[in-house]
Amino acid sequence: MSHLVTLIPGDGVGPEITAATRRVIEATGVSIEWEEAIAGEAVFRAGNSSGVPQETADSIARTGVALKGPLGTPIGFGEKSANVTLRKLFETYANLRPARQIPGVPTRYDGEGIDFFVVRENIEDLYAGVEYMDSRDVAVALKIITRRGSEKIIRYAFELARREGRQKVTCATKSNILKLSEGLFQRVFEEMAPEYPDIEPQHLIIDNVAHQMVKDPAQFDIIVTTNLAGDIISDLASGLVGGLGFAASGNFGDEVAIFEAVHGSAPKYAGKDVINPAALILSSVLMLKHLGEAEAAQQIEDAVYVTLEEGQAVTLDVARQAGDVERATSTSGFTDAIIENLGRAPATRYPTKARPPASVPAPQARWELRPVIPTDTRLIGVDIYTEMDGDPQPVGRALDEAAGPEFKLLLMSARGTVVYPQGSSYTDTVGWWRCRFVAAEEGGLVDDAAILRLLARVGERMTWAHVQKLRIMDGDPGFTKAQGQ
Ligand code: NAD
Repeated sequence: MSHLVTLIPGDGVGPEITAATRRVIEATGVSIEWEEAIAGEAVFRAGNSSGVPQETADSIARTGVALKGPLGTPIGFGEKSANVTLRKLFETYANLRPARQIPGVPTRYDGEGIDFFVVRENIEDLYAGVEYMDSRDVAVALKIITRRGSEKIIRYAFELARREGRQKVTCATKSNILKLSEGLFQRVFEEMAPEYPDIEPQHLIIDNVAHQMVKDPAQFDIIVTTNLAGDIISDLASGLVGGLGFAASGNFGDEVAIFEAVHGSAPKYAGKDVINPAALILSSVLMLKHLGEAEAAQQIEDAVYVTLEEGQAVTLDVARQAGDVERATSTSGFTDAIIENLGRAPATRYPTKARPPASVPAPQARWELRPVIPTDTRLIGVDIYTEMDGDPQPVGRALDEAAGPEFKLLLMSARGTVVYPQGSSYTDTVGWWRCRFVAAEEGGLVDDAAILRLLARVGERMTWAHVQKLRIMDGDPGFTKAQGQ
């Protein structure tokens, strides 16, 4: 059976590594019909500010699978990376990064048996890229975590555990500090875990995960985490097992999967035939598994491992790490060696955590969206963010006046810490205030019209930048307290 795959050669060293990867795949005998498509620098320069032409998007929508080289974002052309655009365009919400010790690639952890996956949420969190200047000198970014987004990535992680015969899924969050956003991710994890009684669920705080990854990385099996934390720990994971030259990745959505090396276009090496193609070749191992070509995937992984283990051919980056630049082979020479070694198995089999799955239950069907509107909402007040130079006391008194008969100013905070009516004299205020108003009557409710009247009164005294309602939703507060409240 022939597979249809979109091939995006990409920028810089992209054409060399995609050509190498294509040669290795074709040498296994797997039949792939490639649809070549463009994206990245040339597209930006031609005036398309997304870096992704419609024909390329159409090709991926048709094939459902893309293998891509790195895409550069030329300075001065468009603000958004074409890589991120592609991931978002096809809602590839799961970023998968294996971290596995490779024979012949020396690391500080030789022999420890590192073999885990980082599953990173790929769409939400600070990467939604929703940012504002709330005053001239105050920048704000929204950290967006949704139940739906969390369910999708957490389900992906549990299903991956079953497919790969893994025992444990570790959910890594910062829920101790970000109780609502990171806390939602943790709660969804804890709600879903009982659906997978064959997998051990574990929750760890992300900073502890970073510490544990350096101290004892072999303890991990699958780590699932939010976008920014995942970005950082997946690079940390790559560093544990040989660095960028070997870091493979896949981006999975419900309909589309995009496979790419983690590294960028390394422009200084473009066209020189010296770059290490292993990261993209190992990404193609993930792609072949996705296409149901497990045998060819294993063959390629084994051939890469044999080549590195026997040291017959190494690229410049590896030779440099070993302090022997003279030994370096070209990209094409290294690729030839891998092809020669297809069908051989490496002598060193690092212990792997994967066990054959006893019986893999069928993946969950697509799940239903829960209604977003809570059944019981009570509007108890509003946070108004204002700008005004000066000390908290005069600003607070002006706002006490503005509160009028309907509201009272409960507190003001500067950068999250209460500064009015009382606060610590050490807090450095920056002329940007979160002003929390609640109903004047103890425990009372307010309405939109009252909030609009309050905004007008506040606006007469100072500039306000944005407004956030304070609501109790189905009995739970939809806001956090200020530090010191
Ligand atoms: P880079 O990954 O291209 O390079 C970082 C360093 O690693 C350089 O010293 C480079 O020479 C080296 N390196 C990278 N890949 C290597 C390999 N396979 N073998 C040996 N050495 C390798 O990162 P950068 O310089 O920050 O970015 C260059 C361009 O790539 C930028 O335009 C950036 O936006 C883009 N980029 C794209 C992707 C992607 O397509 N997913 C990812 C990162 C960066």
